[in-house]
Amino acid sequence: MSKLVSKWNYPTTVRFGAGRIAELPDVLAATGIKKPLFVTDPGLAKLPVVASTLKILDDAKVPYGVFSDVKPNPVESNLTAGIAVFKKGKHDGVIAFGGGSALDLGKLIAFQAGQTLPVWDFEDVGDWWTRANSDAIAPIIAVPTTAGTGSEVGRAGVITNEETHTKKVIFHPKLLPAIVIADPELSVGMPSFITAGTGMDALAHCLEAYCAPGYHPMADGIAVEGVRLVFENLPEAFANGKDLTARAHMMSAAAMGAAAFQKGLGAIHSLSHPIGALYDTHHGMTNAVFMPYVLAFNRDAIEEKIVRLSAYCGIKGGFDGFAKAVIKLRKELKVPHALPGLIKGLDMDKKRKTLIADMAVVDPTAGGNPVKLTKKAALGLLENAIEGT
Ligand code: NAD
Repeated sequence: MSKLVSKWNYPTTVRFGAGRIAELPDVLAATGIKKPLFVTDPGLAKLPVVASTLKILDDAKVPYGVFSDVKPNPVESNLTAGIAVFKKGKHDGVIAFGGGSALDLGKLIAFQAGQTLPVWDFEDVGDWWTRANSDAIAPIIAVPTTAGTGSEVGRAGVITNEETHTKKVIFHPKLLPAIVIADPELSVGMPSFITAGTGMDALAHCLEAYCAPGYHPMADGIAVEGVRLVFENLPEAFANGKDLTARAHMMSAAAMGAAAFQKGLGAIHSLSHPIGALYDTHHGMTNAVFMPYVLAFNRDAIEEKIVRLSAYCGIKGGFDGFAKAVIKLRKELKVPHALPGLIKGLDMDKKRKTLIADMAVVDPTAGGNPVKLTKKAALGLLENAIEGT
């Protein structure tokens, strides 16, 4: 029993349900934000979903600013520009509205605007987060429009360091939004590629969290139900984006994945992060490509767990049945089986492969993989994902 020691952190208030974006003025009042900066991305900024949300603020006579200079896989220059707008507009909080990119950047603007140290000093390493001035962090309201990253219920923000071409996870407990509005109606306009990629991201979070070693039965329970929701709803959300039930279940699965991954992630993410940083691929799609190869690599350590998970999800055939179900799901969602299908004209020389393997083994997620991710293993998994074998 002595090993049953753990630390559990659970998410924040989530106002979940179709149409609940109408509660935004009420949520602002509840968090004490009087002049929010609305942070979204340039693609979303052109869509009716943003116009109708801003109209809610206009109708409630809320003074606000808008910042939408956010790249997919956001970079430091996006953060610097966002902080300047936040300060110039004398904003006192952030509404982070969008997929993981806009959510993370919005959260990081609220966090970093009041700090004196560079953002890289708050990377998710040991207790680096304690270096931050906690009192200077502005409140955050998160409104997801994709269903994958779960950033809305997470205490981290991911940002790419353009100098080192690495994706960094910035961590602070106060990066957790004060209130989340999870309104599945906001996600119906997602293009099918993004529906597939973000949905597979949610699956990757649940699966890796569940397989990560460590004592965390709460995370395990959440992850298992999250996996079931993805298998049962992602194909429908992909095929019929207007199906609000499927969209709602996927929005739940995404939040559940992030709640679960406080337990840890694994080699899917360790390899996906360098690929995303170097080739600017979609994070969830990259996870989806690596998933079957990492599952096979981890087999000896996770077979028993996967058999239990399969039984809960109604997937027959034990570990092999589960692995086949993952491949089938990927096919239905038109996920490329190998990296060249994701990165056009991919031509990696030995030096580049070695660099990716080096980056993967030091990625903070590597420690959560149930089998030690050595450089040799990372190289092998990369070869698998390139060759599709
Ligand atoms: P994204 O935020 O990059 O968005 C992808 C595209 O989808 C964008 O072009 C956006 O305009 C569009 N889009 C979003 N919602 C839409 C909607 N409702 N209708 C139409 N178009 C819509 O994609 P993502 O997968 O949600 O986020 C990826 C980012 O999140 C990466 O940077 C990744 O590293 C990060 N991430 C963070 C965490 C975390 O814990 N904070 C976890 C996983 C991933």
